[in-house]
Amino acid sequence: MSRPDRASAPLHRPTHVLVLGGTTEGRALAVALDGRPGLRVTSSLAGRVARPRLPVGEVRIGGFGGPEGLADWLRTEAVDAVVDATHPFAAGMSHNAALAAAATGVPLLVLRRPGFAPVAGDRWHLVPSLTAAAELLPGLGRRVFLSSGRQGIAAFADLDGLHFLARSVDPPEPPLPPSLQVLLDRGPFTLDGERALLREHRIDVVVTKDSGGAATAPKLTAARELGLPVVVVERPPVPAGLPVAPDVAGAVSWLERSA
Ligand code: NAP
Repeated sequence: MSRPDRASAPLHRPTHVLVLGGTTEGRALAVALDGRPGLRVTSSLAGRVARPRLPVGEVRIGGFGGPEGLADWLRTEAVDAVVDATHPFAAGMSHNAALAAAATGVPLLVLRRPGFAPVAGDRWHLVPSLTAAAELLPGLGRRVFLSSGRQGIAAFADLDGLHFLARSVDPPEPPLPPSLQVLLDRGPFTLDGERALLREHRIDVVVTKDSGGAATAPKLTAARELGLPVVVVERPPVPAGLPVAPDVAGAVSWLERSA
């Protein structure tokens, strides 16, 4: 007997999956689940980015109104599984999802890509927060490449002795460091491009969150090649007790196992 095609195999349960997105993985999961018979998939975005890359299928945009608002939404929309595919640093949303899942009894999976892994030659300084990164920076260099996202730039606003090149999807808002050049761009980025960027701007130290993912990893390779120190902000922990999948295949298989 031939095996059913996994990609088109129906999920018996759940019948409505909420994907908390805003990431490459969130969009890829929406693609992987798209068109499965009897399955409704809603992708949710925070609405932070002016022109977001929209997932396929049904999309809602904007906050739910805290954990209670999310719990209400899960009940009203008869959601029977949630995948938290938010960015590893979207700790507020992940916390809310854990509370809403506990309150409603809806199963919740965290889809979290692995973090960056150091290799020989890396000069990484691990810090617990952007504030700690700002404290460390003056001892490491004067021309800083900040790739920690638009919302993180404020943590460096008081560093008036340093020059910052900050890359973000949308323009950052004050408070901002006095010497700042903003580069509006979004990944994926190439190794050649990152090398050229670090050289052209005479960068001597890089700051990144431990976001993980192939789209933004080339800056770490380029920094290693150029012998530059990198300040890596460690991830907040995943809410305790939740199942975690490292990739889309793991999330699909978790959803299939709940059949
Ligand atoms: P956050 O601080 O964890 O969340 C703050 C609030 O934004 C949440 O309480 C929720 O509002 C709303 N929210 C966040 N993600 C949402 C989603 N997927 N759908 C609906 N509402 C959402 O989040 P953040 O760090 O600002 O990130 C916002 C979004 O950008 C996330 O979806 C994340 O995946 C994406 N992103 C974040 C980063 C990063 O570095 N933080 C990087 C790339 C992409 P309510 O309480 O009103 O529900």
